[in-house]
Amino acid sequence: MKPIVAIVGRPNVGKSTLFNKLIGERLSIVKDVPGVTRDRLYRDVEWSGKEFTLVDTGGLEPKTQDFIMSKIKDQAQVAIDEADVVVFLVDGKYGITGLDEEVAAVLRKKDKKVIVAVNKIDNYIKNQDRIYEFFGLGFEEVIGISGEHKVNLGDLLDAIIGKFEKMNTVQEEEVLSIAVLGRPNAGKSSLVNKILNKERSIVSDIAGTTRDSIDSDFRYKNRKYRIIDTAGIRRKSKIDDSIEYYSVLRAIKAINRADVCVLMLDSTELVTEQDKRVAGLIHDEKKPLIIAINKWDLIEKDNSTVKQFTELVKTELPFLSYAPVITMSALTGQRVMPILDQINDVFEEYNKKISTGVLNQVLGEMIAVNPVPTRKGRAVKINYVTQIGVAPPRFVFFANDPELVHFSYKRYLENKFREYFGFEGSPIEFIFNKKS
Ligand code: GDP
Ligand code: GDP
Repeated sequence: MKPIVAIVGRPNVGKSTLFNKLIGERLSIVKDVPGVTRDRLYRDVEWSGKEFTLVDTGGLEPKTQDFIMSKIKDQAQVAIDEADVVVFLVDGKYGITGLDEEVAAVLRKKDKKVIVAVNKIDNYIKNQDRIYEFFGLGFEEVIGISGEHKVNLGDLLDAIIGKFEKMNTVQEEEVLSIAVLGRPNAGKSSLVNKILNKERSIVSDIAGTTRDSIDSDFRYKNRKYRIIDTAGIRRKSKIDDSIEYYSVLRAIKAINRADVCVLMLDSTELVTEQDKRVAGLIHDEKKPLIIAINKWDLIEKDNSTVKQFTELVKTELPFLSYAPVITMSALTGQRVMPILDQINDVFEEYNKKISTGVLNQVLGEMIAVNPVPTRKGRAVKINYVTQIGVAPPRFVFFANDPELVHFSYKRYLENKFREYFGFEGSPIEFIFNKKS
């Protein structure tokens, strides 16, 4: 069975033009007046060796303006019912309209695979920021294109094919990969061994790409985990420049492959320059993180010890203030398994998506409580925010004068966002864009 792909959207966004470019012929009639009736067209398209049937729904468009709303909905309904993948076409020159919202609502209800293609981005370099607002329609995949000028059509086709792949392959079980990082003697191998010994019956060693890299898989609470081997970083050698360089590379590679990082510190020696360097690498790679203060069995404790140590770590590593701090002992096993629960939580936060409606409600409250300060005698207005991605969560704010939003106000926004939405253990990114 060939998958069916439907191009859906309100009149005049450029459906027929795109259809013609994708099938490589001029078949359907492109018109300048919205509402000209045409027959629905089907054509087969091949891309990267995969074939699919493309549907132009332009023919379903209404003759008169009066019925546009209901007809558009019908059109979307029909296409959606038939289609495996929907290309939801919108007009990047015009912005979001009420009709777009209506179509989006229908698509969301049907729970289909949707790619939002923002059309008429004729000059991608100059106008790619126009696509951001369309993330507000609530779909994850948004691509800027121009049907007429053949901009990014390859990317669009790749995205379409990508959806088939997800459709056809049997879902392989997801593995959550963990990198345990820290300076020599912090207790990394002890932690890894403790976890693997606990779960020995189901441990399997999988040879990695290089001879000395071996990852270990295990199961915990019905989820599969992988501990990324960091032997190169663990190796205790006299530090000379080349070895330092080598171990940094190994660390970066491990961090890159990881879904979640654990930074292990030694409670008897907090916080060293070497710890800060590894922390910096994790921060640069924008990975979710847990900070584990190990060898807790060696510390003489009273009621305030945990708080003191946590505060010390937060002060020494201020750029990682989002990371939860846990005290543990790889030797006695204290809080070793709970780290896995926390790893799971942090990973979920890293992949969390907040709806645009809720974001803007909260933004409104935040601004009401603490208005954006005027700068250089000009009023600064932040109009709108939307989350454009996960892992890490990324947010775009639209302001009349984004350069005038002060760093400290951005920090206020981030703190408040974290208060409301959590994102514990996860870095988050704020992007400020111009739009009045
Ligand atoms: P449909 O009603 O959605 O099928 O839209 P059409 O394909 O008939 O296009 C409507 C109008 O938009 C026509 O005047 C097209 O020339 C124009 N158009 C289509 N694609 C583009 C594009 O990528 N850039 C620009 N600037 N105009 C486009
Ligand atoms: P790595 O270099 O980070 O892999 O550290 P190792 O796991 O090899 O541990 C270094 C030393 O610290 C070993 O002698 C361990 O037995 C000891 N160690 C590790 N974890 C703990 C702990 O929680 N408490 C105590 N007292 N010693 C520990």
